[in-house]
Amino acid sequence: MIAELICVGTELLMGQVLNTNAQYIAESLAPSGIDMYHQIVVGDNPKRLTEAVRIAFSRADCVIFSGGLGPTDDDLTKETVAAALGKDLVLYGEEWERIVSYFASKGRTVAPNNKKQAMFPSDAIILPNPNGTAPGCIMEANGKAAILLPGPPRELVPMFRDYAMPYLLKRSGHRLYSREVRIFGVGESDVAYRLDDLFKNQTNPTIATYAKTGEVTLRVTAQCFTEAEGEALVSPVLSAIRDELGDCVYDTNGRELAKVCHDALIESKQTLAVAESCTGGRLADAFINYPGSSAYFIEGDVTYSNDAKMRRLGVRRKTLDTVGAVSEECAREMAEGCRKHAGTDFALATTGYAGPDGGEPDKPVGTVFVALACAEGTLVKRLNLFGDRDRIRHSAMLHALDLLRRNICTK
Ligand code: AMP
Ligand code: MG
Repeated sequence: MIAELICVGTELLMGQVLNTNAQYIAESLAPSGIDMYHQIVVGDNPKRLTEAVRIAFSRADCVIFSGGLGPTDDDLTKETVAAALGKDLVLYGEEWERIVSYFASKGRTVAPNNKKQAMFPSDAIILPNPNGTAPGCIMEANGKAAILLPGPPRELVPMFRDYAMPYLLKRSGHRLYSREVRIFGVGESDVAYRLDDLFKNQTNPTIATYAKTGEVTLRVTAQCFTEAEGEALVSPVLSAIRDELGDCVYDTNGRELAKVCHDALIESKQTLAVAESCTGGRLADAFINYPGSSAYFIEGDVTYSNDAKMRRLGVRRKTLDTVGAVSEECAREMAEGCRKHAGTDFALATTGYAGPDGGEPDKPVGTVFVALACAEGTLVKRLNLFGDRDRIRHSAMLHALDLLRRNICTK
């Protein structure tokens, strides 16, 4: 597909404003496989703009316009392009109301000439503009398309990125192929630091990071024509991420940590029970959330009091009296006791100080022990978590899941 760019504005011709929109759009199109052979800069003059529109459409499938969507008389891109394509402009009530309330939100009142910013051909595709008054639009005619974007870069850039580019890719027969890499055990800034080279060199595929409490997700997205081509583009990047982050990468298909454990338990035909203190049922909930968990999930004990830990899980009184409920020993005994009475392959246990009060000098709030008991023995991990009560409880749950995942999925 061939695209052409027309930047409208006398200020560009006079050299008063640097044409950064042209650079941004050209740079965005370059890796996409959409060709751009010509760019035109034209002043705010309807006759010369009409001529530019005619020339551009004679050699391109899509013509992108920047500028001239404002409320003043010299803003005439929309009127001129519509006329060239044989379309009339009508008032879009909804867009007009949006403009009125945009002005109201800024404590200003609209002028009557703002009305022209809500006028489009009746069959236009409207492109929202959260950063200004003038919406953009797409006019389709004769199997071709005109994409009209506002001049101010802070309005044009997001509109191009979020609406125009996806439209162009779709039109050119491109598709987006993406894979979601899920990471646990390294923070977002550490991920960014360790993958710095990959991030710097990204064109196709691109990599975006998202952080959730305690977890980091990377979305690797390729522009491609077929799924196989997308996979071929994305797969070396996934390998590079894995090489750098090792087994902190727990999935490359966007599954949650609990889902990875869920699938692994079903696949390996093994069973699980959980004994929870500070997570208070969250761990059980994380599994039971998924249909089919009855295949492996046997029971969950919320043993919050010392008495319940002893009575239901067989934690020794001596353990509680000497090292206390928040201890490696207690976590171990909880997991082992739970596994024994539930008769499962695996048992997970959590115990810790979720705060905001409590803790001990050498075990402050955020000290949590997670344990995994299985036939080979029992693993206990001491954690120093931070955040409020909810965050600590959530992180404790994730760490327990991670302990299970590392010891079941790698087999
Ligand atoms: P317009 O939408 O034509 O009224 O443009 C509004 C403002 O956006 C202009 O005064 C410029 O400051 C800026 N602008 C317009 N076109 C461009 C461009 N191609 N590159 C960078 N800035 C631009
Ligand atoms: Mg202008």
